[in-house]
Amino acid sequence: MSRINYIMIILIAIIIITVGVLSLNQSSDIEHVDKPRVVVTILPQAEFIEKIAGDKVSITTMVPPGASPHTYEPRPSQIKEVAEAKMYAKVGTGLDFELVWMNKIIETNPTMLIIDSSKGIQLIETETEYEEHETIEHEHGRVDPHIWLSPKNAIIMVENLYEGLVIIDPENKEYYLKNKDAYIDTLKELDSALTQTFSRLKTKKFMVYHDSWSYLAYDYGLEQIPIEKEGKEPTPEGIANLIDQALKNNITIIFASPEFEIQTAKTIAEEIGGSVILISPLEKDYIENLKRISDEISKPALKEK
Ligand SMILES: [Zn+2]
Repeated sequence: MSRINYIMIILIAIIIITVGVLSLNQSSDIEHVDKPRVVVTILPQAEFIEKIAGDKVSITTMVPPGASPHTYEPRPSQIKEVAEAKMYAKVGTGLDFELVWMNKIIETNPTMLIIDSSKGIQLIETETEYEEHETIEHEHGRVDPHIWLSPKNAIIMVENLYEGLVIIDPENKEYYLKNKDAYIDTLKELDSALTQTFSRLKTKKFMVYHDSWSYLAYDYGLEQIPIEKEGKEPTPEGIANLIDQALKNNITIIFASPEFEIQTAKTIAEEIGGSVILISPLEKDYIENLKRISDEISKPALKEK
């Protein structure tokens, strides 16, 4: 008996030591990574950085999958990662997350390079007619923050991110340049594909729950009809009006995104005998996501023929 106990104790000791050594190894791995850390606000920016820098940088994305950049609050572990970062690439368009947290982020790490991804992009001012019955003062001068959803803007964002990466890591400039040019070529192909697809459409209007697609609409001659505007649900009158517009324009699909509630989109879809399609404005695989929305927008029009 005591011999078995003795063996058991030794076995347990070995297990404890092994686990301890393994976890020590893991933590020292993390500490010994001397890649520069780059922080971004949203996943499409992380995708752009990854396409340029490969695995030569560590990337932290502040707004995780499934969360909304209009409401998300960072976790303490993310603020820690900000503290050791070399660069923060903000979207730069007044996205709520940045409006609320950017000062705190800069305070946490005052020496890190701040890149404005929107530099050189022509911003679209949000319409205020929808809010006429309310106080519109606070909306004055607001711009639509969702610049990344047009490939034409994505190209400019990639250029801005590249410039930042070269500043924090000049040794890898050649590598970054080659990758950046290759990715911009792919974005240009996407741009021509979208131009072709959308120019053939008879119905240029599409209905979405969250008003995030105005840059896509503007660049490709489409018109986005949003259900929610500036974060507000429509009134029953508003819903009746939307149903009317959908019927008049042969709209059969309503785009909703997993980051937002979809009940109103469902209600309208039922009323028009259409369906709801979930598509996120924040999907990391940027090119696939844009191809998907282009396919979905053009599908009903192709059926008409
Ligand atoms: Zn949004």
